[in-house]
Amino acid sequence: MMRTAVHYRMWIGGQWMDSETGETITVINPANGELVGSVPKGGRTETEQAVRAAEQAFPVWSGLTAADRGSYLKKWAEEIRREREPLARLLTFEQGKPLSEALEEVDAAADFSEWYGEEAKRVTGEILAGSKPKQRILVIRQPVGVAALITPWNYPATMVTRKMAAALAAGCTVVLKPASQTPLTAVFLMQLLEKTGLPPGVANLVTGAASEIGRALMENRSVRKISFTGSTEVGKQLIQSSAGQVKRLSLELGGNAPLIVFSDAEVDRAVKAAVGNKFENCGQMCNGINVIYVHERLVEEFLQQLTERVRSLRVGFGWEPGTQIGPVIDEAGREKVAELVRDAVMRGARVLTGGRLLTDGQLANGTFYAPTVLSDVTYDMRVTQEEIFGPVAPVVSFSDEEEILKRVNDTPYGLAAYFFTRDIQKAFMAAERLEFGMVAVNGTSLSVPQAPFGGIKESGQGREGGHYGMEEFLNIKYISMNL
Ligand code: ADP
Repeated sequence: MMRTAVHYRMWIGGQWMDSETGETITVINPANGELVGSVPKGGRTETEQAVRAAEQAFPVWSGLTAADRGSYLKKWAEEIRREREPLARLLTFEQGKPLSEALEEVDAAADFSEWYGEEAKRVTGEILAGSKPKQRILVIRQPVGVAALITPWNYPATMVTRKMAAALAAGCTVVLKPASQTPLTAVFLMQLLEKTGLPPGVANLVTGAASEIGRALMENRSVRKISFTGSTEVGKQLIQSSAGQVKRLSLELGGNAPLIVFSDAEVDRAVKAAVGNKFENCGQMCNGINVIYVHERLVEEFLQQLTERVRSLRVGFGWEPGTQIGPVIDEAGREKVAELVRDAVMRGARVLTGGRLLTDGQLANGTFYAPTVLSDVTYDMRVTQEEIFGPVAPVVSFSDEEEILKRVNDTPYGLAAYFFTRDIQKAFMAAERLEFGMVAVNGTSLSVPQAPFGGIKESGQGREGGHYGMEEFLNIKYISMNL
């Protein structure tokens, strides 16, 4: 499909600008290799400018009433909803996901902004009993100051609003650095934010070299908080480099989410949910199911239903109606998926469907991988240990429930876990025993505005969503008041 490439600029201190050097980064459509657009390749200079703008805007923004801050966020949600079609189309062109999913994502992005627009008003404190007759103890919450937000390419709209709406509601001013694969959606969102009349400098966006911008943000004393979503590897680097200034961090990192189908589960329901979650966004979701563990009594039926459904998934260009699976984000991502499947097959896994690159016909210039089901999967295979981040569903058969709970906990990750059972006791027992930040029972829905999304262990720290998500952008101050 022919489309005119767009050039989008950075937004700093209320001005739209290119980089000092004039260099740009191109954005490629992963479905057909065509140019979607470009953004400036900003670096240290632009990052420092953006932080200064945010710092200058902070007293004004944090000094507004919470209701006033909230009204900008509610307007942002309205603007996003008004532009949902073009925004979703742009998202699909730069990211690859089916338009239906992009529309859902845009709607969810608006919901986050609206929700935090309401929540802004609910920041509270406490008054505690003093230790002397004339002492009063006040506990208040204040915005941390300038917050830097670093977002990934898999959900280029919701990751922006989930962080930014919480930060702005809390009274922080922000510098956003979106992923270089998908910066255009972020710029579009900033254009819509500008339409709300937001004072200049309250929100800023820089695009460009991640490590340079990351370093400039980390070294800048005015940046009081970094909220990052991305790989565990980069998350660990950020923890190390934050030590210099003891900077506050929120990290949403990788995962290795199990889906356990216990012996009393409803197979149809579990299969449907498994396909919906596993193949959403072509399997590129940090809380997405990595491996499916099915009780041996159900495994044959489960595999049969699963394979049938996966075979019927329509792979193609996200902007064509009916497409259910788009491309993997880039060649490196696809190669990792292919490598994990090769490793599994070499160690004895069976490919029930898929298991190959899709390189024929109109898909030839994209990074497509066939939706795949693997059976006879064992724990020595890399697919069970590593985050696949692609359209591959490995299935492990188990017999011992105790053992399976131990097994799935035996991972450095701890983001999300899913299981199906009709037994209420088992449901509570497993939900409490699973060492993950989020557990879904008999379903897979997790990311909603009011709930605390986030992980434990190497999946990160801090939470996004709900009042928990706002705490990340607030400092607690204790005032001892003596009369
Ligand atoms: P993924 O590509 O798996 O989402 P990354 O961790 O590579 O994960 O990227 C997530 C976000 O972090 C992107 O916006 C990327 O530009 C940014 N990023 C990558 N490396 C660094 C770094 N060293 N410092 C700060 N941000 C980084």
